[in-house]
Amino acid sequence: MIYLGSHVGLSAPNYFEDSVTTALSCGENTFMFYTGAPQNTKRIPLEKLKIEEGKRLIAEAGLDLAKIVAHAPYIINPATKKEATREIALKMLSLELERVEEFGVSWMVLHPGSAVDISLEEALRNAAETIDLGIEGAPKSHVTICIETMAGKGREIGKTFEEISRIISLSKYPERLGVCLDTCHINDAGYDVFDVDGVLDQFDRMIGLSKLKVVHLNDSKNPRGSHKDRHENVGEGTIGFETLEKWLKNPRLEGIPFELETPWVNQKTPNKAEVEMLRKGVYVPDWKKEILAKSD
Ligand code: FE
Ligand code: FE
Ligand code: ZN
Repeated sequence: MIYLGSHVGLSAPNYFEDSVTTALSCGENTFMFYTGAPQNTKRIPLEKLKIEEGKRLIAEAGLDLAKIVAHAPYIINPATKKEATREIALKMLSLELERVEEFGVSWMVLHPGSAVDISLEEALRNAAETIDLGIEGAPKSHVTICIETMAGKGREIGKTFEEISRIISLSKYPERLGVCLDTCHINDAGYDVFDVDGVLDQFDRMIGLSKLKVVHLNDSKNPRGSHKDRHENVGEGTIGFETLEKWLKNPRLEGIPFELETPWVNQKTPNKAEVEMLRKGVYVPDWKKEILAKSD
């Protein structure tokens, strides 16, 4: 079974219920959401988020809640040494672990953070420690933290499978950790994204393929090794349609949720068209024009 969806919003007035509706309207059988604004610490109380209504829609549509993914806010920098930043990271990580538990989903993607003014090794140690303390601060949560592979922009850590493997082995709770592989990020980090099996072999050797829980399926605006992290629409970037389809349909990745995080086109979601093309395996060269025309 192929699970393909996208990052959808969680906004007023119907929050989670609308997230599900949006995903379904794009022909998706999985999706990814943030439980609040990714760039700040303001959180709307769970009672207002229409979680039960959303779960009902999920069940009615025959979707599997276990294939739906949460993403932790990216203001969390687990690798930091600064006390104030660290406190926010810890508080938010525990809070999000408990909030995500209430949605009934199993996986929460987390960026491992940036090594600001410290060595790589120190940053990896900090990340493992913050993750451990975050888990300990959320005793009621069973959610697995999926560390995302990063592009290596600035001082970002997690740009190699070795670094991610190191965080997992430094943690006291390796069984609570998984990995989210982002195709744009690994391309920008320098991996040969066109050789899907070769990358998966490397992943298997360094981390173990059983740890791979989520894939972010994105094209990239930049060439391999650019360390930029700018996502592009499916088939419009340097990775290309064929390679993205190869990732989605690789038998070793069966059952893993694939989430698109592609830029909007003219203030409209491109995900319906992208999902349809990828599922069918047919790229429509002018697909963006259709979306642009609709807005007039
Ligand atoms: Fe991410
Ligand atoms: Fe991503
Ligand atoms: Zn990115």
